[in-house]
Amino acid sequence: MKISESQLKLVNDQVRRLVASDNYFGRRLREAGVTEVRTEADFLALPFSEKEDLRNCYPLGVSAVDEREIVRIHSSSGTTGTPVIIPYTARDVEDWAVQFARCYELAGITSEDRIQITPGYGLWTAGIGFQAGAEKLGAMAVPMGPGNTEKQLQFMVDLQTTVIGATSSYALLLAEEVERRGMLDRIALRKGVIGSERWGRKMRERVKEGLGIQVYDIYGLTEVYGPGIGISCDAEDGMHYWDDLIYIEIVDPATGVPLPDGEWGEIVITTLVKEGAPLIRFRTHDLSRIIPGPCPCGCGFPRIDSLQGRSDDMVKIKGVNVFPRQIEEVLQEYPQLSSEYQIRISHLEGRDTMRIYVETDGTQDFLELADEVAHEVKRRIGFTPLVKVVELGVLPRSEKKTRRVFDERYE
Ligand SMILES: [Zn+2]
Repeated sequence: MKISESQLKLVNDQVRRLVASDNYFGRRLREAGVTEVRTEADFLALPFSEKEDLRNCYPLGVSAVDEREIVRIHSSSGTTGTPVIIPYTARDVEDWAVQFARCYELAGITSEDRIQITPGYGLWTAGIGFQAGAEKLGAMAVPMGPGNTEKQLQFMVDLQTTVIGATSSYALLLAEEVERRGMLDRIALRKGVIGSERWGRKMRERVKEGLGIQVYDIYGLTEVYGPGIGISCDAEDGMHYWDDLIYIEIVDPATGVPLPDGEWGEIVITTLVKEGAPLIRFRTHDLSRIIPGPCPCGCGFPRIDSLQGRSDDMVKIKGVNVFPRQIEEVLQEYPQLSSEYQIRISHLEGRDTMRIYVETDGTQDFLELADEVAHEVKRRIGFTPLVKVVELGVLPRSEKKTRRVFDERYE
C-alpha cells in the first residue's frame, strides 16, 4: 500500500527525532546521510531494521527520549541470546491502549462486556495489552493470567464473563475442558480474542464450537507496541490494522524489494508516532499480504491477510514464493490423504523441481490421486509439482516438530 502524504509527514517527524536523539538508529541514519523524508523514494531509501539491531541496543540503546519520559519497559523473550527491551513513554502506553480498544470495538465488544484475560502479565506484552484495551473501552477486565484452568472455569461461570482473551492453544484447552465437563450452558462467553499465531481451520472450528464463541485473530509484536495493532473482523477475511499509527509494507523476503498489494511477502512495519522506541522499516519475518479493496464489514482501515508463517519457512521456486501453508491448504481438501506430507525441492537437469510426497488410505488409485493433487497445486499456486503418493505410515513421524520442507538445491 503506497505511503500517503500524511504518513510521510509522520515518518519525517520520526526520522528527525531519531537523528536528534542520536540513539542507535539515529546514528545510523546520520551516517547514511539521511536528514529528512519528503517523498516515497526518500522513504524507500531508508535502511531496514532487524531484531538483531535491537539486541545490539541492549539494554536501553533503542530509547529515543530522555529517560525521565520512559514510564515502562517490555521485553521480548529471546529464545536465543540477548533479550530485546522496548521502552514506552506515557503516550506510547496510551496509543497502544487506544489500538487495543479499537480491536475490541471492531470485534463488537463493548463496555457491557466482561473480558477474561488469560495471556501472561509482566515483561511480556500480552496480558497488559488486553487489560489496558479493556479499561480504555470501559469493559470489565478480569486479569487471570495464564494457567490454573480450574479457577478460569470457575470465574467463567461465577462472573459470567462474555469475552475470553487467549492464545489459540489455551483457547483449545479451555474448549476441550468445557466440552468434557458438559458445562457449555453454564458459561456466557460470546467472543474470543485470540493471539495471532498461525492456526488451522480445524482447530479454529473446535474452539468456536467448544466455547460457543465467535473468534477474532489479533496481531502484534513486542517490538511494535504488542498485540493490538490489528485484528480480524466479522468478514473473517484478513486483519485490519491501524494505519494512522503504523505503516505496513510487504517486501520480498529474499531481496527486500517492496511488493504490490495482493502479493505475499514479509510484513515490514514503520511506527508513525512512537516516542520511546520508534522503528523504521522493521522486518517482522511474518508472512502475509495486503488485501486490496474495501472490506465487506465496512471498516475503512486497510487489511493484511492471516499470517502464512515465517519468512524462514518460505521457498522460492520458478520465480514463485511458496509457503508450506499453501501446500497444506491444498492437501486438506482431500480426506483420503493423511496429515503427513513432505516437500522436496531439487535442481534437476537445469531446472527447479518440487516433489510432494503424500500418504493415502488407498481408497483411490495412486496415479489418479497424484494427478488430481498436482493439478490443484498448479491451479492455486501456479506451477506443477511432481506428486508421489505413498501408503499410510511411510513418511517419517516425529514427536517434536516434523521437518516437512527439504530444499536440496543448496545442500
Ligand atoms: Zn473488515
